[in-house]
Amino acid sequence: MTTIHNLGFPRIGAKRELKFALESYWKGESSREALKGLGAELRKRHWDNQAGLDLVPVGDFSFYDQVLDMSFMLGNLPERVSGFHGDVLDNYFRVARGRSAQSAEEHHGCCGGVAAGEMTKWFDTNYHYIVPEFTAATTFKLDASRLLEQLAEAKQHGVKAKPVIVGPVTYLALGKAKDNSNKLALLPDLLVAYSQLLDTLAAEGVEWVQVDEPILVTELDLDWQHAFNLAYHQLKACRIKLLVATYFGQLQDNRYLAVNLPVAGLHVDVASSGDDILPLLNLIPEHKVLSLGVINGRNIWKTDLNALLNWLEPLAERLGDRLWLAPSCSLLHVPVDLDSEQTLDADVKSWLAFALQKLDELKVLAQALRGGRDSVKEALAANQAALAARRASPRVTNLAVQAAIAGIDASMGTRKSSYGKRAGEQAVLLKLPAYPTTTIGSFPQTAEIRQARSAFKGGTLDDAGYRSAMQAEIARSVREQEALGLDVLVHGEAERNDMVEYFGEQLEGYAFSQFGWVQSYGSRCVKPPILFGDISRPKAMTVEWISYAQSLTSKPMKGMLTGPVTILNWSFVRDDQPRSASCKQLALAIRDEVLDLEKAGVRVIQIDEAALREGLPLRKAQWQEYLDWAVESFRITANGVDDATQIHTHMCYSEFNDIIASIADMDADVITIETSRSDMELLDAFDDFNYPNEIGPGVYDIHSPNIPTQEHIVQLMKKAAERIPPARLWVNPDCGLKTRQWGEVLPALTNMVAAAKVLRQAA
Ligand code: GLN
Ligand code: ZN
Repeated sequence: MTTIHNLGFPRIGAKRELKFALESYWKGESSREALKGLGAELRKRHWDNQAGLDLVPVGDFSFYDQVLDMSFMLGNLPERVSGFHGDVLDNYFRVARGRSAQSAEEHHGCCGGVAAGEMTKWFDTNYHYIVPEFTAATTFKLDASRLLEQLAEAKQHGVKAKPVIVGPVTYLALGKAKDNSNKLALLPDLLVAYSQLLDTLAAEGVEWVQVDEPILVTELDLDWQHAFNLAYHQLKACRIKLLVATYFGQLQDNRYLAVNLPVAGLHVDVASSGDDILPLLNLIPEHKVLSLGVINGRNIWKTDLNALLNWLEPLAERLGDRLWLAPSCSLLHVPVDLDSEQTLDADVKSWLAFALQKLDELKVLAQALRGGRDSVKEALAANQAALAARRASPRVTNLAVQAAIAGIDASMGTRKSSYGKRAGEQAVLLKLPAYPTTTIGSFPQTAEIRQARSAFKGGTLDDAGYRSAMQAEIARSVREQEALGLDVLVHGEAERNDMVEYFGEQLEGYAFSQFGWVQSYGSRCVKPPILFGDISRPKAMTVEWISYAQSLTSKPMKGMLTGPVTILNWSFVRDDQPRSASCKQLALAIRDEVLDLEKAGVRVIQIDEAALREGLPLRKAQWQEYLDWAVESFRITANGVDDATQIHTHMCYSEFNDIIASIADMDADVITIETSRSDMELLDAFDDFNYPNEIGPGVYDIHSPNIPTQEHIVQLMKKAAERIPPARLWVNPDCGLKTRQWGEVLPALTNMVAAAKVLRQAA
């Protein structure tokens, strides 16, 4: 009989209970006991939510991050926190969040401040983990107490527990050797700790352990392939069954390696790799369990259960008891419960499934395989009806949009003239000095702005009242920028709560949930808008605000838009058409906005692509295809303007080496990037490539409250000028200023403008 199980459950809580408990504990407003109590309550609730599954994950709950949990379990703490006298949980938060020496919390007086662990994206998700730190001297020492406590709790609640751990090879691969030593040299010692862990779990009567090895869906060189064999041949000695779990993509050339690891079972992600399964079936040894991740754990759509059963029934026949079914990956990456939604568009709601609904789908599938489809006739019929309604819905299909997409031709993505000619015309129109100064878009989101927004949303402030409140903020930022002497001004983005949501709310084809939160890191969650249908723009979205701002000044006002790739990458997207198709629809909508701004007299327009890089596929072999359509989408958006209109783009990260050709291909007149922390060295990538257009390398880190000095900025820009001809350099901060206070922004920009003047004199 088919076994059904789950790989992990969202831990933040359907109403973000864990977020609020963590933040209250960190502020010193509640006790450690209260926090731990809430943790236990959430675990219990989530196990109840998963009742009906044959195996339920245990150890997937975390107060911050499952990778950091693993580091603690393996005794791999950074040296800098090893002397801490206080409670383990507090030390755990010290590694996660860092602490200043002045902190008032317990033991900071004696144990001092500490830098936070580095954080990075978990594969291609928007979840961020704390990067394990290694040196050649790293040793491991097992402390399984956290997992054992959770296991005991699970047993007490009668849960059919399957402990979940990060596998040794993935753990090592995701960490960073601080001294550039060879991480693989640590594997033998690491495996001792893993063996002890597995023996400990076996002694507790555990039958199955899920060992997450998602690194298997990436390109592995020979050393790492060898590490897999070494690791699992050694762990084979433990008397416990291991389910090696892979997800987020296909095994491809690691297929042979994966199926032949000496373990009892393998989990593969079918939602993203259906085609990869048949060759796998022929390879997998007869005694092994094959767990198929058939319910997509990354999106929020209902599964087509009938279609899936057509595919699964022969497999079930062939595999018998060896077939397991599960979501494709941990449900950490989807919201908890669709039933919480009260205001979500009813049609759209009927097409969706969040974590709980996905588990229901899994149960229906299992029942259909065990007792025949007739035994779940009603559920299957309801599923089919919902999917049919979605397919037929006029809300999803917009023929005018599809015709516009079919009509895209290369000329739409191409400026009339090359950069050299454009730059001449822009110089005449904009009359900017050398080393022009600008900012990236947002100014501080003050308490007044937030109050006005919530009053407007809550209905206590009317349209006119809201508009005048926002205009007052815009006028304030224009005034400040004029007083500072900046050259290209911005309106300040007061009216935007979020750079994607703001546009999503105004586009047809988008829906918004109330509780569709997904953990991003620690207590932080995001609520991605839901892109469900063909995208169109009923009316201009920003023109009124930007025109108002332009009317207040004779300096050039820079229109501010979010680009199609970033909107796409920060949304839940459709599963009924390729991402590239949705992206092009967004591109056409934002293109219309660009052209409307231009028509309204806005002659500098910035199109932010903050998330372009993070959309890169896991496998390098697939990068070019993504970059091609991403760049094409940007070009469609931006390049319909006249030569004299200046297009800016902005990207807030600092790795360009491997994508520089595509960045150049976007052909923005000006790109502003984050550089201050890299001491301008990242401009080497632009220099080596002979990047042809203008660049604004960020001269100060907006994440920090520190005020940069004029001298420091001059010095950084001189370094920039060694790499990029000064005539093509701009002076600007690393990113938007919305998280800063005016009290920090004004002195910083004063120094920045003064630095630009010094540079001009020297030129
Ligand atoms: N224009 C946006 C801002 O200034 C850009 C934000 C970003 O790059 N993340 O806030
Ligand atoms: Zn940025």
